[in-house]
Amino acid sequence: MKLKFTSHLANRKYGYFSYLAEIIALFAIYFSTAKLGLSLDAVSRFATLIWLPSGIAAAALLLFGYRLWPGIAIGAFLVNLLNGAPLFVAVGIGIGNTLEALVCTYLLKRNGFSYSLDHLRDVLLLLLLAMPLSAIIGATIGVSSLFLGKVIASSSYYLTWEAWWTGDMISILILTPFLLTWSKWPRDKVSVKRIAEIGILTLLVLAVGLIVFLGLFHADERSYPITYLVFPPLIWASLRFGQRGATSAMFALTILAIVGTIQALASFLPGRLSMSLLLLQSFMGIIAVTSMILAAFMAERRELEQRKDEFISMVSHELKTPLTTIQGYTELLHGRFAQQGNQEALLYISKMAAQIGKLSKLIADLLDISKIQAGKLAFAKETVDIDLLVREVVEDLQHTTSQHQISIEGIAQREIAGDRERLGQVLINLITNAMKFSPRAERIAVHLSHTHDTLTVSVQDFGIGIPKAHQQMVFERFYRVYSDQDKTYPGLGIGLYIAHQIIERHRGKMWVESVEGQGSTFSFSLPLAGEP
Ligand code: ADP
Repeated sequence: MKLKFTSHLANRKYGYFSYLAEIIALFAIYFSTAKLGLSLDAVSRFATLIWLPSGIAAAALLLFGYRLWPGIAIGAFLVNLLNGAPLFVAVGIGIGNTLEALVCTYLLKRNGFSYSLDHLRDVLLLLLLAMPLSAIIGATIGVSSLFLGKVIASSSYYLTWEAWWTGDMISILILTPFLLTWSKWPRDKVSVKRIAEIGILTLLVLAVGLIVFLGLFHADERSYPITYLVFPPLIWASLRFGQRGATSAMFALTILAIVGTIQALASFLPGRLSMSLLLLQSFMGIIAVTSMILAAFMAERRELEQRKDEFISMVSHELKTPLTTIQGYTELLHGRFAQQGNQEALLYISKMAAQIGKLSKLIADLLDISKIQAGKLAFAKETVDIDLLVREVVEDLQHTTSQHQISIEGIAQREIAGDRERLGQVLINLITNAMKFSPRAERIAVHLSHTHDTLTVSVQDFGIGIPKAHQQMVFERFYRVYSDQDKTYPGLGIGLYIAHQIIERHRGKMWVESVEGQGSTFSFSLPLAGEP
């Protein structure tokens, strides 16, 4: 009992300490970033356009709770007092800035704001409600305190308010989403390709930032509106890397823009720094809004896509179980009727079995699609004799058609390392497609050939062919070629996608050559066994 009590006390002590430490940390960050802002040509000495504290304060309360408010209050009070504000004015500003963060947090939390900003609703909530309203509170209380304390005259009230409001809004707009989206470290595995893409994008953002805002190359901005250069990397970041990409690119560009404007190198109007900063911040605000909305749209789309994948996976699993049972009973019935010699029943059973076979193939394809999406398509590594495999598949499929004559031409004469069943699946898919899409032709040819390091298999038909514009797309998921004549061909448009994935996973290539009305040749090449 005693032990429990002590540990409880220790916990509470630790709780107080960590609470105090959090407040001190927030105070320190708030104070130092505020000091930096106030040093940058603040309007009426107190309203600065570079006001990082607002964004930091809102993010801190959202992430760690309202209880951290004293860090903001003390930071805002002290920094203004030291900046020359009379005591009561500094108290007023402190109250205004604290209320700003509290109201921003309240409005967002109350409306179920998600920190990932993955829905348009979250972005609009921040942009249209929390950001402007809380900044109005901060600016109005702050500037009114200055006015009542006779620090500013009534004539400069509006100018000061405008700078204060804009500075706070931009900070909440750019910094808060940046901090929120990075508050959770992404846990997905990142592929080498993606890392390379991130690297290139980062370089592009930096290059554009340096050119546009820091006047690198001293481009003559009067004849070239180079500020538009910021759009391509921002759109790239938003489309490919979602809200994290958008907010990070925006953050980096904003830093460069501010540095550039302060150094008076930027392409905005010369004159007072505060005026340039106002123009710059408006520009940054507009592009931040654009890229965040774009990123939210993309995230919503991705979520929908993910839900569709999950649905396909669930449906195919759900369908598989009863179908397996039906298959079992059909075999049982087949055995019974065979014993009885009931030929009519056997005929019906074999028709049922054929349809069950088709259904199982469809479900197996759908399951493969889900596995590919989840990166879980497993491959065996065995030595595969391609000539033998082609012969077996052709023999099997020849039994299913009386119309088509399938011939094998050439010889691969090589073995490769791969998954025999999966490669067989590719062949079956190509040959059944050749049969399906050549309803009036009789011949299908499978060509085998090799070079010193690869072997190639081609399936040639003399059917309807594929129009040029569709040829690359047939390897995409759910893609089917529609035209007036061939809309009756059954299928889901997934066979070639799966085949393409299987060949890619074998480090091979797959392609099609086709002439509409004359036929198609689908080929794949594979590296030979022993090759890396
Ligand atoms: P599906 O199940 O619809 O056949 P696939 O992924 O196998 O799906 O093929 C995608 C589309 O490519 C088909 O719908 C068809 O339009 C076209 N296609 C595939 N193979 C051929 C072929 N041999 N000749 C003509 N069109 C083909």
